[in-house]
Amino acid sequence: MSEQTCIVVGASHAGTTLALQLRREGWEGKILLISEEDELPYHRPPLSKELLAGKKTLDEIRLRPAKLFADNDVELMLSTRVEKLDRDAKTVLLSDGSSRQYDKLAICTGATVRTLPGSEKFDNVFTIRNAADIEKFRPLATPDRKVVIVGGGYIGLEAAAVLCSMGLEVTVIEAAKRVLERVTSEVMSAYMTQLHTSRGVTIVANTMVSELRGHGSVESVVCADGSEYEADFVIAGIGVIPNVGLCEEAGLATDRGVLVDENAQTTDANIYAAGDCARHPSALYRRPLLLESVQNATDQSRVAAANICGKVIAYDAVPWFWSDQYEIKLQMVGLSDGFDELAIRGTPEVGSENGFALFYLKDGVVIAADCVGRPKEFMLAKKLVKDRAAVTALRLADESIEVAALIAV
Ligand code: NAP
Repeated sequence: MSEQTCIVVGASHAGTTLALQLRREGWEGKILLISEEDELPYHRPPLSKELLAGKKTLDEIRLRPAKLFADNDVELMLSTRVEKLDRDAKTVLLSDGSSRQYDKLAICTGATVRTLPGSEKFDNVFTIRNAADIEKFRPLATPDRKVVIVGGGYIGLEAAAVLCSMGLEVTVIEAAKRVLERVTSEVMSAYMTQLHTSRGVTIVANTMVSELRGHGSVESVVCADGSEYEADFVIAGIGVIPNVGLCEEAGLATDRGVLVDENAQTTDANIYAAGDCARHPSALYRRPLLLESVQNATDQSRVAAANICGKVIAYDAVPWFWSDQYEIKLQMVGLSDGFDELAIRGTPEVGSENGFALFYLKDGVVIAADCVGRPKEFMLAKKLVKDRAAVTALRLADESIEVAALIAV
């Protein structure tokens, strides 16, 4: 084992966790963690929140202190891109022209933001994925400026909350019928819309951007329905595409993500993958899933590290997510798509003091929950989803039953 090398490609949540976890799992050989970015790895969730708001600096959101990599004898190679993967020779070709040999390889390449067509012609259209992205537009984020945010997903809404709180005039344009349509129910989308509009954000749903208008800089954003919104700058939060070019070229099986089995192993026994780039079979949801979340990146990479070290551990964690917008903490567990029954516990209205929880059921089983200001319900929901618990919607919605008692049938 001591002569062996494990190379980890990508040093965000998945790659960093995986590299350090290898030592905990007993990997005695070399560990090389390669990052395209020139920054020590950092947490991504604060990018659209505290970093954007100027409440934290990049150094305050590092994933791990530099010393920890040294202490664990993890060689961190920054500003380096893996250009090619040669599975026969078991080497990776690096952007500096050198190549490195591996015995085991972990692909944690994450995802790339989608960009608005034509946006490259303008100097004031931005995306949010890396720390450097925030620095590009933060000088423009001053009170009374107008920002148009395209995309009403997590990125768009989190950025809207911060920029609105900073005094900017914010418009969010969403192509789908409602914000957060990809991840939640109509009830939750309506609540989030109400939350943002109550703070002065304009939300325009069900329309596509048809034109970015201006000369060198965008001056207004025109939608397919003919409406036009003035903009001092534009942020596109329109989703991400998994980075699987390396894997495709090397002949690994991919399908909108690199395919891994429950042990995080790709179709090559020496290559593993985890995080935003990997699609895994979910026993819980009985279908392949690609999850773009911190929870998935860290949990799946820990499983990958264990399996690389010779253990046989299956990944089947319950997915969970969170989003901070204004003073609201939204906590979500499970995947709600396909639910056939909804239990509403509390009042999903802005200003309702005690928050609320939405429990999603399918065939009588709890498959997901969205909670606002309900940490107890969130913890309960994690257990209910994991256990595929059958609790009636009537009980879940009944506030006279204590949360702890909900689990008892
Ligand atoms: P997202 O969740 O995919 O949301 C993007 C939204 O933009 C979708 O509703 C999409 O609608 C819409 N859209 C796409 N093209 C559009 C267009 N041309 N005009 C208007 N709307 C358009 O992605 P995201 O918000 O950009 O976030 C990126 C990734 O980071 C996601 O994986 C997300 O889960 C993750 N993230 C997570 C958190 C969190 O967990 N708190 C926070 C930030 C980011 P369609 O679906 O109809 O295309």
